[in-house]
Amino acid sequence: MNKDLKIYNSLTGQKEIFKPLVPGYVGMYVCGPTVYSNVHLGNVRTFMSFDVIYRYLKFLGYKVRYVRNITDAGHLEDDSQEDKISKKARLEKLEPMEIVQEYTIDFHKVLDLINNQPPNIEPTATGHIIEQIETTKEILNKGYAYESNGSIYFDVVKYNNEIDKYGKLSGRNIEEMIANTRDLEGQDEKRNPQDFALWKKAKPQHIMRWPSPWGNGFPGWHMECTVMSTKYLGEQFDIHGGGMDLKFPHHECEIAQGKTANGIDPVKYWMHANMLTLNGKKMSKSTGNHLLPNEIFSGNNQLLSKAYSPAVVRFFMLQAHYRNMLDLSDEALQAAEKAYKRLMEAIKILPNLSVSGTTSFDVDALIDSFYTAMNDDFNTPVLIANLFEAARHINLIKDGKENITQVDKDKLQKAVNGFAFDVLGLHKAQQETGNNQAFDKTIRFLIDIRNQARTDKNWALSDKVRDELAKFGIQLKDGKNGTTYSFK
Ligand code: AMP
Ligand code: ZN
Repeated sequence: MNKDLKIYNSLTGQKEIFKPLVPGYVGMYVCGPTVYSNVHLGNVRTFMSFDVIYRYLKFLGYKVRYVRNITDAGHLEDDSQEDKISKKARLEKLEPMEIVQEYTIDFHKVLDLINNQPPNIEPTATGHIIEQIETTKEILNKGYAYESNGSIYFDVVKYNNEIDKYGKLSGRNIEEMIANTRDLEGQDEKRNPQDFALWKKAKPQHIMRWPSPWGNGFPGWHMECTVMSTKYLGEQFDIHGGGMDLKFPHHECEIAQGKTANGIDPVKYWMHANMLTLNGKKMSKSTGNHLLPNEIFSGNNQLLSKAYSPAVVRFFMLQAHYRNMLDLSDEALQAAEKAYKRLMEAIKILPNLSVSGTTSFDVDALIDSFYTAMNDDFNTPVLIANLFEAARHINLIKDGKENITQVDKDKLQKAVNGFAFDVLGLHKAQQETGNNQAFDKTIRFLIDIRNQARTDKNWALSDKVRDELAKFGIQLKDGKNGTTYSFK
């Protein structure tokens, strides 16, 4: 069995054997949401990708500290240079913290529905203003930032010349970047267009503001992730994740800030999840091309023919590898729903299979294939295909065409449950409750009485059973394989 876990590192562009900095322990940081509107399904996909990574690391026995922040200040609109939350609060005449509260609650609710596990620490940008000011001071003292009109900017060119290549994560080079930059507001304050804000002076209409050595202002977006990741995971830690769109400039800036402040590359493995598209276009809050979780769970959207449960949505997303794009469509969801039900049905009957003295297939190889899939950079679609291979054997055993020993059945059951529920986090399909089983047995008992009556040519009794059941909405159907029932 291939026991090495391989992770695709965006920094090197290669799959690397995973070796945490401290054996047995993993520090993982994922950029969280900017809580100025409802999370859309694209956001959900990224957080689910890292949920599965978190779950699998724990499944392998690592002790994981998973930190995912809440961006509740500092995320600038590209053009306006205004904080997204501050802007929304101003437009809706609300306190910024009312906006933050509303959408943080929504975010937690949705991730809970979709069966994501919460991180171990969920720090907020506004809870770490002091740390952000301190790190800004440090970079300023080292000479890699400068003050301009009450704002502090990071000197990208100086960093690039003296410390490390700016653009090494996103594969860009600084000369090209400078050549391609548009003129944005605030550019005149900067030495170079690529310089980014560590701290911004607050304009009079900017509601979210804090005192600093440079006057009233607010932190730059990239700074919060540098201070919160290093505060809770150390100056260098194992895994940093986020959506592909955060690679540049956000993560590039985090590397520059961390390396300048602490003299060390902050992250060993950079991981990026690919985008969810809708009608072939990126799902995005700012362009309006998005589908909200509530719309898909209720079916309340023109693009959908029906509602889909959180379980089906989760299964649908995990059928794609996290580094591949995924396009959402009604047909794809319908197919996912069928497949999910088929898999759950097989998992449900597994404990009730009869056992024999031999097993007619290689259970160990099948279980190994689950590990091999996930060890190959968390390949969930291959894992799901291998779980379906298990389902195929389960159905053959049920039909008496294959067999399995008690020991192998126990092993398979443990592995299938572990990978389907603990690793993929699939929702367990509702097991039949005791009441349902009692109901089913009662109807079957009445069917037996009716059959006996028919054998005895007691037509009055047999008709009575059928007609009474019909009154309760239960329809009997006589077929080649006996009598079945359905609900009218
Ligand atoms: P935001 O709230 O915009 O900062 O985004 C939160 C997370 O969702 C980030 O990691 C983004 O990269 C990610 N994200 C945004 N749009 C999409 C999308 N369409 N598909 C997948 N992930 C996305
Ligand atoms: Zn971040």
